[in-house]
Amino acid sequence: MSTRTDPRFDEIASKVRGGTPLTLADGVFLYRYPDLLAVGSLANEVRERLNGNKTYFNVNLHVNPTNVCVADCKFCSFARLRPGDPQAYTMTLPQIRAKLKERGDGITEVHVVGGLHDEVPWSYYLDTIRELKAERPDVHIKAYTAAEMHFFAEHYKMPMTQVLTELIDAGLGSMPGGGAEIFAERARRKLCTGKADAEQWLDVHRQAHRLGLRTNCTMLYGTVETLEERVDHMLRLRALQEETGGFQTFIPLAFHPEGNSLGKLPAPTGVDNLRTYAVSRLMLHNFGHIKAYWIMIGLATAQVSQSFGADDVDGTVQEEKIYHMAGAGTPQALSRSELVRLIREAGRHAVERDTLYGVRWEDDGAPLPGIRIDASVPYSNNNGRISLSVAH
Ligand code: SF4
Repeated sequence: MSTRTDPRFDEIASKVRGGTPLTLADGVFLYRYPDLLAVGSLANEVRERLNGNKTYFNVNLHVNPTNVCVADCKFCSFARLRPGDPQAYTMTLPQIRAKLKERGDGITEVHVVGGLHDEVPWSYYLDTIRELKAERPDVHIKAYTAAEMHFFAEHYKMPMTQVLTELIDAGLGSMPGGGAEIFAERARRKLCTGKADAEQWLDVHRQAHRLGLRTNCTMLYGTVETLEERVDHMLRLRALQEETGGFQTFIPLAFHPEGNSLGKLPAPTGVDNLRTYAVSRLMLHNFGHIKAYWIMIGLATAQVSQSFGADDVDGTVQEEKIYHMAGAGTPQALSRSELVRLIREAGRHAVERDTLYGVRWEDDGAPLPGIRIDASVPYSNNNGRISLSVAH
């Protein structure tokens, strides 16, 4: 039952409706406000003002070229420190190209993210992009987080503008938003060492925006951070967006506890996930999109999140490794029709977008082929091409 009688909540709602940016105290209040549905409903107002009834998705392929990484992130279940580790892998360039050839049917984007591998030459990272573009010149390459970009500049001793320019010349189209984790120094010190700090992460995006690249941004939540630190993280992103306007979408990333050294912590609850979508939608007034990454929060929450501020559910994500190594129980891929069904069932209008939010297709309500989504069990997708039991 709604308790919408709190004058402080009403004051925040007035600010939201009047276009006044919310403060850190406002954000923390919304996190603590007991009436989750009231917070969600306010976020939904903003979501519908900006994006109407549309929920975006895209059809993409994830490539994680290596899990060898010199950094030490306590929440990470993907990285293996040294190449000799039995579970370490580094894909060759022909393997990367072959993966796109084999699994690239119908995709418009390849999402490339991996470890910070210090024993491959700089050309490996450039050639990864070149190989993908050579195989499919039409596909958009969204590659390398700001943490990776910062590592490239430090390790290969190049100015950031050179790193970015060489990658753009190789075919880079935009940057994903990973590596942000949580900006607050107190929490970040406990979570990760050996990678870009908050200011360095933000500066990579600043420089990318100045070169005309659009980028995404993320926040890892549910580990050691406080609610104040979550809202502070959003405010730092909002400030950079005010400066450059280069962010496309904000993606809250729920911590997954399996296979990493923070495994004693519980995963964020469904309520925490929904509240984080809602609060971020309300704090980030200058962002066009909030993405619910279904692979992390599960299909059921991804559906409900579309009424709590999210207007994007990411993509078909063929063969995702990073969150499945951390215990994500979701399928590793959804077919296009399954994604559309997920959106329809949430009462939204599905729109297939390209990476830069150009519209490629809109739902016309035609019957969909394939199976019904049962979010409670893993299943293989309906075209039978993707195995869900990828060995890690
Ligand atoms: S999160 Fe990224 S940078 Fe950190 S250990 Fe894992 S792969 Fe390396």
